[in-house]
Amino acid sequence: MANVIDGKSVAAALRLRVAAAAAGFSARVGRPPGLDVVLVGDDPASQVYVRNKGRACEEAGMRSTIHRLPVDVTQEALLSLLDGLMVDERVDGVLVQLPLPKHLDEQAVTDRVVPEKDVDGFHPSNVGALWLGREGLVPCTPWGCMRLLDEAGVKLEGARAVVIGRSNIVGKPMAALLLRRSATVVVAHSRTKDLPALCASADVLVAAVGRAKMLGADWVKPGAAVIDVGINRTAEGKLVGDVDYDAVVGHAGAITPVPGGVGPMTIACLLENTVRAAWRRAGLPKGELTI
Ligand code: NAP
Repeated sequence: MANVIDGKSVAAALRLRVAAAAAGFSARVGRPPGLDVVLVGDDPASQVYVRNKGRACEEAGMRSTIHRLPVDVTQEALLSLLDGLMVDERVDGVLVQLPLPKHLDEQAVTDRVVPEKDVDGFHPSNVGALWLGREGLVPCTPWGCMRLLDEAGVKLEGARAVVIGRSNIVGKPMAALLLRRSATVVVAHSRTKDLPALCASADVLVAAVGRAKMLGADWVKPGAAVIDVGINRTAEGKLVGDVDYDAVVGHAGAITPVPGGVGPMTIACLLENTVRAAWRRAGLPKGELTI
């Protein structure tokens, strides 16, 4: 039976450490770390995500402001709001909730967030820093996956890791992080041949696809660590991952459930990134930030 990695409790512990760091920041700088979230339109899922991010910030003793813009906002108005946030000293982190309505240029918008405040880690400068092994802000979901692997004591050095999915927000940064830890990484995608056999060769398997229960028992090597990033809703309205959990839990070495695995880590890592960004912007000594 696999070690079921409890993302909820790992995230709760991380949030406590972030709160302690945020309190330390506030005491030294005279204001709390601040996150500004920009939400365009009224997509119900985005509304929920943004509300949860705001609430989590406040619980960690951080300031959070949500900027709600109408669905037909112009590109100029959105960029002008972002430009104002970039020069506002109290703003440490800025994120634009995606996806944006079709008439907006997503790339131009995310590029407008300066790397120092880019708590999503999407700016080309942060992406470059990640691949170059330099300091920068790392995308929250894959960073959370790394924390879960470490928490479960999974050995990464020399391990064969397969990441399914090559998106800029999950698959690619996940591969970079695993490589940084000396895993041997293969990135699979929709054109990959013999995917089940490839996956069954992995010591560490990360699924970030978006297809309910795609990975069955024969996709998983006995004893492998399985990180399930997928969030899918079944016809019955149930949340499930990309992994057929019931089929795999019996012989994986470690596995994250859905819900309660990777999901809670994403927000906790967003808070962590915001405190890291604040710390760096304030010029506080790096060694004194322990999260
Ligand atoms: P995405 O941009 O749609 O990327 C999906 C990736 O899966 C693509 O690279 C695609 O390949 C690949 N793929 C699709 N069908 C495949 C197949 N049959 N076999 C192999 N690969 C296949 O999605 P994403 O944004 O990375 O998100 C992935 C999943 O993670 C979604 O369920 C999303 O909801 C979830 N997610 C969860 C969190 C969290 O906090 N837990 C955060 C972000 C995302 P191609 O590149 O060839 O098209």
